Amino acid sequence: MASPYRLALIAHDEKKDDMVAFAREHADFLASCDIVATGTTGQRVLDACPDLKITRLKSGPLGGDQQIGALIAEGRIDGVIFFVDPLTPMPHDVDVKALMRLAIVYDIPLALNHATAEIMLNENGGQPSQTRDAR
Ligand code: PGA
Repeated sequence: MASPYRLALIAHDEKKDDMVAFAREHADFLASCDIVATGTTGQRVLDACPDLKITRLKSGPLGGDQQIGALIAEGRIDGVIFFVDPLTPMPHDVDVKALMRLAIVYDIPLALNHATAEIMLNENGGQPSQTRDAR
């Protein structure tokens, strides 16, 4: 049996509703994954999909993005879905940039928006979105 896909989930505040909708829609596939998430994102997804197995790290501004970067450097992440808010200045912008840099260094799939996340999941055995056009 194949090892579970090790997926990191992160969403900035303005994108958390989008992440919750994404997780609900793909709950079946996500149930087959080992998921790590930054603190608040993980809690929001767990509230919506309590059956998912999610390891919650620190909140992004308190080091969660850096923790995920460290997991990437250790070879413990297969893909990152990071719904970035491009319209709000972030106190932890440097951490976000560092995480993205490590994903590039280690050539880890990094989806920064919903459309790319759909492609990433479909590539890994998830189902195409049913509601994408309705958003
Ligand atoms: P959060 O962190 O899930 O704890 O809100 C995400 C971030 O802002 O990087």
